[in-house]
Order: sequence, then C-alpha cells, then structure tokens
Amino acid sequence: MNFDGDFVMSIGGRPVATSTTLPVVNPATGKVFAAAPDCTPELLDRAVAAARAAFPAWRDLGPDRRSALLKQAGDLMAANAEPLKALLTREQGKPLDDAAGEVAGAAYWLKSFARMDIPVTVGQSGPGRRTETHQMPLGVVGAIAPWNFPLLLAFWKIAPALKAGNTVVVKPSPFTPLATLKAVELLQSVLPAGVLNAVGGGDDLGPWLTAHPGIDKVSFTGSTATGRRVMASAAEGLKRITLELGGNDAAIVLPDIDVDAMAPRIFWSAFRNSGQICVATKRLYIHADIYDRLAAALVAYAASLPMGDGAMPDTKLGPVQNARQFERVKDIIEDCRAQGHRFLCGGDIDGGRDGYFIPVTLVDDPPETSRVVREEAFGPVLPLLKFHDIDGAVARANDCEYGLGGSVWSGDPARAQAIAERLETGTVWINDVQILAPTVAFAGHKQSGFGVENGLDGLLEYCIPRTIVMPAIVMSTETEH
Ligand code: NAD
Repeated sequence: MNFDGDFVMSIGGRPVATSTTLPVVNPATGKVFAAAPDCTPELLDRAVAAARAAFPAWRDLGPDRRSALLKQAGDLMAANAEPLKALLTREQGKPLDDAAGEVAGAAYWLKSFARMDIPVTVGQSGPGRRTETHQMPLGVVGAIAPWNFPLLLAFWKIAPALKAGNTVVVKPSPFTPLATLKAVELLQSVLPAGVLNAVGGGDDLGPWLTAHPGIDKVSFTGSTATGRRVMASAAEGLKRITLELGGNDAAIVLPDIDVDAMAPRIFWSAFRNSGQICVATKRLYIHADIYDRLAAALVAYAASLPMGDGAMPDTKLGPVQNARQFERVKDIIEDCRAQGHRFLCGGDIDGGRDGYFIPVTLVDDPPETSRVVREEAFGPVLPLLKFHDIDGAVARANDCEYGLGGSVWSGDPARAQAIAERLETGTVWINDVQILAPTVAFAGHKQSGFGVENGLDGLLEYCIPRTIVMPAIVMSTETEH
C-alpha cells in the first residue's frame, strides 16, 4: 500500500475516490502536502447503506469470531506502524515517537476490546422464573474524531463499536484525515465488506453524518461547542450519543514533592502533543512554598527541549496542528500581554517562521478571572497559579465549567487521594496524568461530556439491553392447581 498518496475513502469494502479533494497541510511547514477525499451527500448515503447492509451478518457472527477478526486487525495495524506513524507526524505535527505511540495505542485498543467480554445479566433466577438481559448492538455507529489524536481517538470508538456487533462509518477531522483513511483501507483485508467504512470531507460532512437517518448512534470527540450541536442534531432521530468534549484540567501541587524530580513530569502533563490534549494540565496550582522553585525548574526544562518538525529525530515539541488553532492560542497569549500578565518564558511568536510554531509559554500567576485561566487554550501556554491553603486550591480547581480530568502531586499518596476525591472531574491522577486504558472508564463531568468511553461502561455505550423473561412454568403449574 502506498502511504504517501492515493488517499481514498473505504465504502462497502472498496476504495472510493472523490471527484473533488481537500488540501491537507503539514503544520511544520504550513504547506499543502496531500489531497484528501471530499465526500458528497450521495457517497455518505452509500457508506451508511453499506454499513446497514453489513450489520445483520456482523451482529450474527457472534462475539468470539468478531474478537478474532479484531485481533487480526490490531496485528495488521501494528505491522504497518512505521508508515502510519510517518504519515501521522506529517499531517498532525507530533514527534515521531509520539506518533508511534499513537499507532501502537490504536492497535492495542483493537486487541484489548477483542479480549473484553460483554456480560449477560441474570436479573431473577429462582424456581419458576428467570430473566436474562443480553446486550445487543445498536446498528450503525457514526464515529467522529478530532485532530489532536486522530487515529487513536477514532479507534477508541471503532474497537468497542465493532466488538459489540455494530458496523461503523468513521469520519476523521478535515485537518488530519490521512492516517485514519489509510488505516481503515488497510483493515479492509481483514474485516468483512461494509463493517468498517471511512468517509472524509469538509465542514458539512459532520452535520450530514449526525443527521443521517441511517445512523443509530453517534460517538463524538471534539469541542464542547460542537458537542452541543451533535446532541441537538441527534435528538431528531433519538440517536444514542456519546460525547467526549473539552477540558480545563487543574493540577494541584503540594509543597512536599521532590521539585527537581517531578518538574519534567509536571511539564509533560501540560505540554505533551504541544498542549493539544483534552486531559492536558491547563491550570497549574502550585503551593506558595515551592512556587518559585518549581517555576524555575519548569523554565529550565522547557529551554532544554528542541521544538521543530516532528519528523526530525531530535524534535521533542512539534507545532500546533492548524492555522485556526495557532490563531486561537496566539490570541490568548496576546490577551495575557495586553492585561499585563508576566511571562516566565515564551510569549513571543516568530511571525516569520514557517509552520505553526508557538514557544512554550508559562504565565506567572495571572488572575483567576483571566482568559488564560478560564478558557481551554489547547496549545503550549500554561498559567502557573499560586495557592496558600488546600481548600482554596480545591475550590479554584472546581470553579470550572469543565470536569474532564485533573491531578494531585504530593509525596504523601494518602493525602493526595483525599484531595483527589474532592475534585469534580471524571478522572483524577496522582503524581501523573493521561494514564488511560481500554479497560478503564473515562467520562467527562459537567460540560466535558456525555456518557463514557473505555472500560465495560464504555463498551456498553455501543449496546442496548434486551431482556428475556423465561416462561414461569412452575408458577403457572402452581396456579393451575
Ligand atoms: P471540533 O469540535 O472542531 O471537531 C471535532 C470533529 O467534529 C471534527 O471531525 C469535525 O470535522 C467535526 N465537526 C465539526 N462540526 C461538526 C458538527 N456540527 N457536527 C458533527 N461533527 C462536526 O474539535 P477539534 O478542534 O477537532 O478538537 C479539539 C477539541 O476536542 C478540544 O476542545 C479538546 O479538548 C477536545 N477533545 C476532547 C477529547 C476527550 O476525550 N474528551 C479528546 C480530544 C479532544
């Protein structure tokens, strides 16, 4: 397979080219390097029809045979990790090692859901009555992914949806369609025709997909604003939905940490993928006793990290993924300057440089009401916020419309756990962040989501219960006598 060109959609097991295409930009250069398919409403109809046609046989194949095919799909993805990772870096901008981790993650999600069991629940069991609740697939799932982890987050949906017996039409972001289109094309050699279809297109394609009457469930990852539109659109057909949305995660750092040992970890909690992670640390609350020391350690560590084209082997930090996001992050940094907030490092964007590069920017204790604290920048800018008492820090962390993740950093795990239990978010990590697994439920509280991904809870989001009430033979016999 050619991973450098010939990007096509996959519909009903076949590659489908479109008459018009969309440009794909390498964020490290700002230049177009590939042409991606641009799906029409008619081709979307074909993709949904193919998924519907494939559904009964896939459902009836049963979990064991589906699992065997998902495992094969995971192995095939892993065997093609090299070209997929290079493509991912080129379209997304992340360093090659991070891209390799993302491809490995997508393969791992397929293989892990292959191993997961879907339980049958026995509600009543006694002489004369037994009820069994079986989990049935919903039908056709529309899976919509963002541009920050395009491949992994698409497979967070594809793996459980297929395991449960659904068929899928996946739609990547127009900014990063390529690795997903290639991966789905690759998997056509393993999966029955029509079970996994991929469409790519512009801004209209998402709304067409969510409104399509042939879609039974929409699983969406992206911004909260778009999530609301998805929910409204799905209401029309009472489609089931799962929404994984934005976040503004707080990290609370207690004074008992080993500052030098923890500084790099705290740094990466915020700046991995150049800050473009839904569960990146986006507000760093540091106890006043160690504020200056930790701030200095973070500044020094940032200065040691080469920023550049992710395809270069030394690069540790890549560009921001697209021009729109570049402008958004720049706008927040300019607001900091206009409001007189102090930069500990960064803050200056080299307008003459090719590509969407923004230097690591640490903002020195801006007011809680500032934009850099209240808004999800989703880029390499982080406010450092000083606190004196832990109750105040917890209150400030919780004073947020989002509730995706958060973290507590302390040398005393029991103390950290007691604080973790007070944070109003779906996940709280201790002395770490972004530890995510196919077997662990991940849910957004408040405006960060609706429903669950991963774990058994996440798998059951692709199912609908059907209860069978067994005939009450003994009871009716008793009644007759
Ligand atoms: P986005 O909402 O702009 O786009 C996400 C996807 O939705 C893209 O594929 C896009 O084409 C599609 N889309 C756009 N409008 C649509 C509509 N009206 N109907 C249906 N689909 C539509 O988000 P983004 O900019 O790609 O991603 C960044 C955001 O995603 C951030 O807010 C980030 O926090 C969030 N995110 C959340 C998670 C999570 O698991 N909670 C993970 C990654 C990213």
